[in-house]
Amino acid sequence: MDTNRRDFIKRAALITGAAGTGVFTGSCTASTPKNNAPLNLSFQEGIAPGANLNEKLDFMEKLGITGFEPGGRGLAGRVNEIRQALNGRNIKLSAICAGFSGWLIAEEEEHRKECMESSKEILAAAGELGSVGMILVPGFNGQQPSLAMPQAREILLEELKELGDFAVAHNTTLILEPLNRREAWFLRLLADAAAICRDTDNAGITCLGDFWHMTWEETSDYGAFMSAGKYLKHVHIASRKRRKMPGEDGDADNYTDGFRALKELNYPYYVSFECGTEGNREETVPAAVALLRTQWEQA
Ligand code: MG
Repeated sequence: MDTNRRDFIKRAALITGAAGTGVFTGSCTASTPKNNAPLNLSFQEGIAPGANLNEKLDFMEKLGITGFEPGGRGLAGRVNEIRQALNGRNIKLSAICAGFSGWLIAEEEEHRKECMESSKEILAAAGELGSVGMILVPGFNGQQPSLAMPQAREILLEELKELGDFAVAHNTTLILEPLNRREAWFLRLLADAAAICRDTDNAGITCLGDFWHMTWEETSDYGAFMSAGKYLKHVHIASRKRRKMPGEDGDADNYTDGFRALKELNYPYYVSFECGTEGNREETVPAAVALLRTQWEQA
């Protein structure tokens, strides 16, 4: 087979793989090479400057940001407000950031139940808003007493089956987030999160990769995203030394290795800002967006 024909078949397979996700909004056609895949950027609510949600969304629109990630706490009471603010804009809900109480690997059943119930409330609101999913951490270091391995994982799988079914019924997903060791002992690697998704075997259970946490735990951004593969539904990004805007930590803020994996996966979801800034948001936010777009092109 000649090179052109082989490339065409490879590209066609990648494009077919992206179809049917319901989120992919790029202008990919059968003649578009994979390195033209769009970078879909998203902001958490605190990223853009602005006195209120509408001002923040105006700022985002001017920068071409197409995803919005609000916090989960109190989300059920904000469905109308968020829906109205997004009405007529080219911005969709990328994910809901946590907001639950209790934790799923707690020793006490009462804390596990609290997490199940509060997560369901957020999942229902996430579904109403058309969010890809709701982000959940199974247990933080500070949440004690927690179950030990392997019991923690066994109980988690049972809970995730129930939450996954609930998420699917509400047209959304639960997105497991691995953290670095200073924040969580239980789930630190994307491959581990993906293995939990595989073992849960439920379309409602997915995972995310956060470049900040990956900096400390993963040996390869590329390898980490590839290991998450089809379970990957969200990405968080920040500078790699201090968790500020991408670019504020200089040369350390290189994401091209991870972006290359996202392109090869034909990842159709969002890369969402979860970070602070040392500077003026009016300047640091557009600079970070420009840096990421350049690195995406280079990847
Ligand atoms: Mg994160």
